[in-house]
Amino acid sequence: MVETVRAAIYARISRDVTGEGLGVERQLADCRKIAADRGWLVAEEYVDNDISAFAGKRRPSYERMLEDIAAGQRDAVIVYNTDRLTRRPIELEQFTGICEVAGVRQLVAVTGDIDLGNDDGMFMARVLAAVAAKESGRKSERLKRKARENAEAGKPNGGIRPFGYEKDQITVVESEAAVIRQLAERYLAGESMGSLTRWIQDQGIPTVAGAAWHTSTVRSVLRNPRIAGLRAHNGVIVGPAMWPAIISPEQHRQLLAAFARKVNSGRRTPRSYLLSGMLRCGNCGNKLFSAVRGDTRRYVCQSGPDHGGCGRLTIVAGPVEEWIAEAVLIRLDSPAMADALAGRAAADDRFSALSAELQSDQAQLKELAEEWAAKGISMLEWKAAREPIEARIYNTDRQLGQLSGNSTLSGLVGNGDGLRANWESLNLSRQVAIIGAVLDYATITPAKTRGREFDPFRIVPTWSR
Ligand SMILES: [Zn+2]
Repeated sequence: MVETVRAAIYARISRDVTGEGLGVERQLADCRKIAADRGWLVAEEYVDNDISAFAGKRRPSYERMLEDIAAGQRDAVIVYNTDRLTRRPIELEQFTGICEVAGVRQLVAVTGDIDLGNDDGMFMARVLAAVAAKESGRKSERLKRKARENAEAGKPNGGIRPFGYEKDQITVVESEAAVIRQLAERYLAGESMGSLTRWIQDQGIPTVAGAAWHTSTVRSVLRNPRIAGLRAHNGVIVGPAMWPAIISPEQHRQLLAAFARKVNSGRRTPRSYLLSGMLRCGNCGNKLFSAVRGDTRRYVCQSGPDHGGCGRLTIVAGPVEEWIAEAVLIRLDSPAMADALAGRAAADDRFSALSAELQSDQAQLKELAEEWAAKGISMLEWKAAREPIEARIYNTDRQLGQLSGNSTLSGLVGNGDGLRANWESLNLSRQVAIIGAVLDYATITPAKTRGREFDPFRIVPTWSR
């Protein structure tokens, strides 16, 4: 007789995290389906409510589930998404510790299985927990919604006074409005941004911060949709603003078009993304390219003569970048990296040995030259003796060159936690270098469902170290 698997289903309502309409009923329904598909018995459904202010930090149902697992009454845990299970990485370590003692290895989410009994599964779980913890630390969904509502109602978004308006961000300052209109007309008539900046500076008109004008400040005044009476939110115009316009929406469009022409004709570095060149299509193996569709950055497989991919795979950039960055930082602190470091130590020994050979060969060449200069050997003898030494030097040099590509890891291994704290402040090229030091590439597999939610199981990293 087959033993019955007694599964625990865990669901949590929270105001953080991604999902829209991720009500507890939907979570439970999806989890029940998993149990049914596998022929597991749902021993109990544990539900916590994290929204209620009274819930505080405690999750009574979660704690009860842990007790039942520890008591040996559960064989598997099903959650909608692992970010429902733990809110902080330390909770995951506690959870997996209890599971290990109780012999529970199966943690199943709607998107995929995690085998808590092996290193790969634990690695996956750790990355997911780290990403979830970061997410819940962000501005709450409620605040975001409030900001969006304000924007849609055309209300100002607070902050410092915009040039052209009073502190209330609604009343027009006529003298400044006149300056804005003049700047717009003259720019559209073809005057350069540099000339306009000198003009406004010469007029003795202060910026709102009382600082000097730069071309970038003038440009940002003219680019801002608010001067055309439009309210933008996260870079997208959401509707008419409640304050009066200083220039017409038509002029605003003309200004944007003029700026775009300028940018296209001028020097412009191609937009580069964190994972450019590091992602591969799970359908065809081609490299994925970055692309903006609507207002969302994506990595896509591109078809056509220049790219030659299948064109059938795409993934939203933000969550993949965040997942990979976390995975790399965790990887840097893993035992596998310690092994890689040991490999590096061996490489360092080889490096010293080769360097010593090189030095001794070069010293010998010098001795020969001195012998010849002192007429101890003939020109012919000198030449004959030189050739094998020079061949050796050539070889040693080449081997040294191959070894020295190994130095990018110094200062990184074992320092993932420290890097995490500063990650956002590192510039793109430094972030790219850190990721490139351990990640060879990552394959993005096709989406299993049509849903818009991010599925971390689509990412299959291939580590170089
Ligand atoms: Zn493809």
